[in-house]
Amino acid sequence: MTSTCEARKAHAAALQQAEQAPPLTRQQILALLSWEEGQQALLAAADRVRARQVGEAVHLRALVEFSNHCERNCWYCGLRRGNRRLPRYRMSPDEIWEGVRQAAALGYGTCVLQSGEDSWYDAETMAGLVRRIKAQTPMAVTLSVGERPEQDYARWREAGADRYLLKFETSQPALFHRLRPGTHQEHRLACLRALGRLGYQVGSGFMVGLPGQTLEGLAGDLELLRDLPCHMAGIGPFIPHPGTPLGKCPAGSVELTLRCLAVARLLVPRANLAATTATASLHPTGRQRALQAGANVIMPNVTPERYRVNYEIYPGKIAPTGDMAAYRQVVGWLVAECGRSVGAGRGDYGG
Ligand code: SAH
Ligand code: SF4
Repeated sequence: MTSTCEARKAHAAALQQAEQAPPLTRQQILALLSWEEGQQALLAAADRVRARQVGEAVHLRALVEFSNHCERNCWYCGLRRGNRRLPRYRMSPDEIWEGVRQAAALGYGTCVLQSGEDSWYDAETMAGLVRRIKAQTPMAVTLSVGERPEQDYARWREAGADRYLLKFETSQPALFHRLRPGTHQEHRLACLRALGRLGYQVGSGFMVGLPGQTLEGLAGDLELLRDLPCHMAGIGPFIPHPGTPLGKCPAGSVELTLRCLAVARLLVPRANLAATTATASLHPTGRQRALQAGANVIMPNVTPERYRVNYEIYPGKIAPTGDMAAYRQVVGWLVAECGRSVGAGRGDYGG
């Protein structure tokens, strides 16, 4: 038997099991990730599982990137504090509210408030903003402001925050500690578990193609996704930023990212999985391809342009076309092109 033949057999068996009788073993996950010729069958299986488990709706989340100040120094990210060339900004709570209000008026059911780790926004400032949004709109509020004390998470939850996004980035401990100096993997995972206990819908995820990442590591990332509280996830390719220590490293593979996304759909079938901006930034039809590989969420950027250009986590990030209303329409067309429809309401996990 040739090795291709073995790979085909292992792949077919893993796919059949994933659709009919999960869980998958490490070996099966590896078989699905590694066999490129089997990609089409894998993506098609993930698409079927997506349709069966979460339906045809694509949920839109209006993303406000409200501060690019960051106290961390992650090796992969353009917002790291060591990147002195980046002009920094902070939006005031009133400016953030104005963006959210406009997004609500356009029918967005969720806003995502994201920033670097910026303690300028203390617990009460964020809580006040959440209360204002919850009092004046029907929106779900997702926060994504990094690692904070559990009491801050608790306060924001009491204020009405519904969801929290905190990617674990990589499950490989040595890689995590090298790329996120001064931070601890155990602490980040403890944050995710605390968020779950507090009743948040928890989002995590990882990057594909980090220098030093292995295929075994990616399989570990997918297993971690399955074992954590995980109601939503973002999986995107690593994109090198010239102002970081990883600036000369190659970008992650879009194809491998799509295979990871598809396996994630098989492992956490009811999760809300994003067609990430990073995937769209590396491939002209990246979003559409992700929607056909298990994804059911898009996060259109509604940050005012004068700020958005400096939220440069990585270069070449796709930018919205036109104003917020025009872009909402463009995203609707993109969803329709894939034979899907934009979800009404908040698009909660299990909803
Ligand atoms: N500061 C918060 C949220 C902002 S960063 C946090 O770190 O959780 C949001 C996400 O951007 C990170 O979780 C990471 O997965 C992603 N990211 C950072 N640098 C990137 C790069 N160079 N390529 C692709 N994604 C990147
Ligand atoms: Fe800061 Fe998040 Fe970027 Fe790390 S990934 S430097 S915490 S914005």
